Amino acid sequence: MITRSAASVQTHWQEALSQVISDPVELLNLLDLDPALLEGAQQGSSAFKLWAPRPYVARIQRGDINDPLLKQVLPVSAELEHQPGYSMDPLGEKPKNQQAGVIHKYRDRLLFIISNTCAVNCRFCFRRHFPYDENRLNREQWQEALDYVRNDTEISEVIFSGGDPLALNDQRLGWIVDGLASIPHVQRLRIHTRFPIMIPQRITEEMLDWFARTRLQPIMVLHCNHANEINEDVIEAIQRLKQAGVTLLNQTVLLKGVNDTVDDLEKLSRTLFQNGVLPYYLHLLDKVQGAAHFDMEQEAAQRLVGKLAARCSGYLVPKLVREVAGVPAKTTLAPIMPDA
Ligand code: SF4
Repeated sequence: MITRSAASVQTHWQEALSQVISDPVELLNLLDLDPALLEGAQQGSSAFKLWAPRPYVARIQRGDINDPLLKQVLPVSAELEHQPGYSMDPLGEKPKNQQAGVIHKYRDRLLFIISNTCAVNCRFCFRRHFPYDENRLNREQWQEALDYVRNDTEISEVIFSGGDPLALNDQRLGWIVDGLASIPHVQRLRIHTRFPIMIPQRITEEMLDWFARTRLQPIMVLHCNHANEINEDVIEAIQRLKQAGVTLLNQTVLLKGVNDTVDDLEKLSRTLFQNGVLPYYLHLLDKVQGAAHFDMEQEAAQRLVGKLAARCSGYLVPKLVREVAGVPAKTTLAPIMPDA
């Protein structure tokens, strides 16, 4: 049941964003963690800042260094180790980012880099080295990005990415959505976001209004990595989106030490589906410098998904995929089934 008024919900997410935890000392104290972790956390944070919202941190088990949510936000010194085979631009996005705010990799769809900030700095982020400063747009430049879409009649879908696109306020977002809706060949709007997981109060009445009024078909891809991330507030946010007619999909990154067991994946899929979200993609880690310690061997991942497929209905088994720079679609990897 929704108990908060729309006005209080609207201010709450901006407040939560302004109170994000960025000091490793505070995070370790809040979670009763061993002070010996501090040096590594400070080193990791110097390369990619600690940035963890309090509503999410509240779901972390105090004193548990192996908590799967903690591992996604706590910086560690391994992030500074240079690993061969890992890149600053693992998806080869730079050459596809010739127009500010736009990444055009695929024929019929493109990405808008809507925001340069996020509700969280995920330690495995594939854009942790992305040149956001070159993609910070004013209204006139957004008009140019919209014109880019208008001039390419093959584009039927625009994907809001970032950073996290929902870090932008509803007024600006609504203006961009209206601009896209005025382009006849654009049919779908897809939003990739971790906000409903990190700060579920981000799903405001104003946002639901622009979903309701746009002629574009809205799709939201939640980036949920573990069932422990889904609490009552997240479920409420999901329900509000569903009621507004938004198609909800989930994309998970397979992360060593976070969600790399069949029990983890099964619980995540069942929890998502029970709440109206289709577990759609399971991504192998994009090989970005600083995140190698999360990576899993491809064959181990295929065997894991095989075990999941042996336990669950097909619609609970996300597609295992890898994104390869320069390839015009994600590469699907077949599950390796366990012996009968
Ligand atoms: S929310 Fe997405 S873009 Fe932001 S830090 Fe996490 S993975 Fe990176």
